[in-house]
Amino acid sequence: MSISRTVAEALTSSSWIRKMFTQGQALKEKYGPENVFDLSLGNPNLEPPAAFKRCMMDIVSSDEPGMHRYMPNIGYPSTRDAVAAYIGEQEGVDLTAADVTMTVGAAGALNVALASVLDPGDEVVVLEPYFVEYKFYASNHGGVVKLVSTTEDFDLDMDAIEAVIGPKTKCVILNTPNNPTGRVYSQERVNQLGELLAAQEQRHDTTIYLVVDTPYSKLTFDGVQNPLLFKEHPNTLIAHSFSKELGLAGERIGFLAINPAAIHREALQNAAAFTNRTLGFVNAPAMMQRAVGQVIAQGEVTVDVDYYHRLRDQLVDGLTAAGYEVTRPEGAFYVFPRTPIEDDIAFTRMLAEENVLVVPGSGFGRRGHMRVAYCVGPEVIEGALPRFAAALKKAQE
Ligand code: PLP
Repeated sequence: MSISRTVAEALTSSSWIRKMFTQGQALKEKYGPENVFDLSLGNPNLEPPAAFKRCMMDIVSSDEPGMHRYMPNIGYPSTRDAVAAYIGEQEGVDLTAADVTMTVGAAGALNVALASVLDPGDEVVVLEPYFVEYKFYASNHGGVVKLVSTTEDFDLDMDAIEAVIGPKTKCVILNTPNNPTGRVYSQERVNQLGELLAAQEQRHDTTIYLVVDTPYSKLTFDGVQNPLLFKEHPNTLIAHSFSKELGLAGERIGFLAINPAAIHREALQNAAAFTNRTLGFVNAPAMMQRAVGQVIAQGEVTVDVDYYHRLRDQLVDGLTAAGYEVTRPEGAFYVFPRTPIEDDIAFTRMLAEENVLVVPGSGFGRRGHMRVAYCVGPEVIEGALPRFAAALKKAQE
């Protein structure tokens, strides 16, 4: 085998999303793109806000020398100041620029976090259903994933989390708003998790990091509030991204924020600078750092969140009317309904026969479900709904 065995195995077992993408391309070529209803990808379809584009125009036309050079590995001080002020206000704590590392998206932030804290064999608790890349990110840095199921309605199951934590547990990854379920965990649940982690740290005389992945935090609906994170557990790291809230997924910009109350705060700051550099990112893209720094300083700038809210209702109402069992999500742009037959892979094939593409729940570790991504135009959902109804009918025959 001329490539790594680990990678070869991952390639054969991994990414349903990639499989659906390839299948979608083939269907589009055969039937024409307007006749294929692709709800498999989490690629935000809204363009970045005008305020972001104006910042970019200024940056691109600036004659200031050094705009495109290296900067400190953790990023421009002015951008980190802006992020620190923004997260500090959100969390109600005093953050400094040294607590912030600008990263290559949330994916980069998660890898920096895990590389900074894991030694080989350390355990990383991942809640199922999960964003599939967590498994690879953990193993990139020698971590061993311990899966824990959430409840039927995708809430945290404290007993199950407690049962899996042991002396080797180094991290718990929490994703809110959640991909694939759209769940936003309540403040009460996050408080309980903080208490549980504090008790387990004391019991095992260890440090357990709560790594919170928040790329969808601006995409919440019906006034649902995101939980505060830093006050609930000192050893908390926030991995955030502008991919979704500013429609910048291809530009690769995000950050890692360290809780100033973290026991090893300064060591974490140094570790994040080192790992961001040596993982090969070196630093986050320069122009994007400048642009998001300016955008944050302008206040609440996001894509049109109401747009996703309307699509959520269109999709959830349509699926419910067709007879699907759906939990109405509180955020992100995914719905995770039950499939009418337990074999979710077989059912997603039945949907593909109707030219509708979704991802089987098994791809996220939960059978009997499917992930429907609604970051598409309303006409795609409108076209897909009768086909969802037809597939359901066939499955029930
Ligand atoms: N975490 C979750 C839960 C995601 O859904 C994604 C992207 O879809 C990422 C992280 C990676 O985001 P980014 O594009 O910022 O690297």
